[in-house]
Amino acid sequence: MIYSLQDVSKTYSTSRAVVHALDGFTFDAEPGERIALLGPSGAGKTTLFRLLNATLRPTSGTLQFDGTEVGAMSGRQLRSMRRRIGTIYQQYYLVPSLTALENTLCGRLGYWSFLHTVRSAVQPMKEERDQAMEALETVGLSDKHCCRADELSGGQQQRLAIARVFMQDPEVILADEPFSSLDPSLKETLASLLIVLVTNSRRTLVATLHDVETALRFFPRIIALRDGRVAFDKPASEVDRTTLEALYSDHGESKTAPVSQTQEADDIESRCAPVCTQ
Ligand code: ADP
Repeated sequence: MIYSLQDVSKTYSTSRAVVHALDGFTFDAEPGERIALLGPSGAGKTTLFRLLNATLRPTSGTLQFDGTEVGAMSGRQLRSMRRRIGTIYQQYYLVPSLTALENTLCGRLGYWSFLHTVRSAVQPMKEERDQAMEALETVGLSDKHCCRADELSGGQQQRLAIARVFMQDPEVILADEPFSSLDPSLKETLASLLIVLVTNSRRTLVATLHDVETALRFFPRIIALRDGRVAFDKPASEVDRTTLEALYSDHGESKTAPVSQTQEADDIESRCAPVCTQ
């Protein structure tokens, strides 16, 4: 088991209220699984994501990574865990003034000593440079290796973020809304690319997604969250329109501001329409 969560809860205490972002959350993930996390706004997806990449700790319950309880890890073990997890964010978090090649090399930062980092900034070692060029080649960006990140288009920046994470060579990739800022055809291309890369290298992929169609098309397992709990955990082939309507409608218990009837209807329609055509 790469992840094992038992009865995990996460509570935020603010000056105004105590928010139960996750409430008794349980699931296991095997190495090599591809899991999409779905759910309405405020369901707890980001909180779960941050628990999985160990930037947050559960308030209660146990979270194990590869058989070790994360809460009991030493600083060294935590750093080692984080090296084994690569994260792709919606905002990419590239360094705008660095070239595509330099941004790709940044994927190795977690492995480098301070001195090695300084040396690599001046003159990367040939082996690392070759690896970075290979990663750029894989995502179709080798001809852009000298371009600054801020000279690349949105789709190219997302390709670069994927190249960087593969340069890190993690066992697990966590992706937070990785395609949401891309237009539909680019979304399709990059989702296919990421899935091929992940599947070929037998890595685990867990992604939060807003887009139900992408989730059902590319992820065999869907875990849906609502009000901090598992609403369902099923194979994508068993997720139907009724299940999705139940997930995205009836925000009675939602901790976020309610959406208007019309807006909510449009929202459900846009999420479900592609499913109905399959
Ligand atoms: P999602 O990603 O599904 O939109 P989140 O995990 O961001 O859900 O949020 C779950 C709940 O926790 C929401 O009610 C949100 O307002 C609350 N929340 C998230 N982060 C914080 C925080 N840092 N402080 C207080 N409340 C938070």
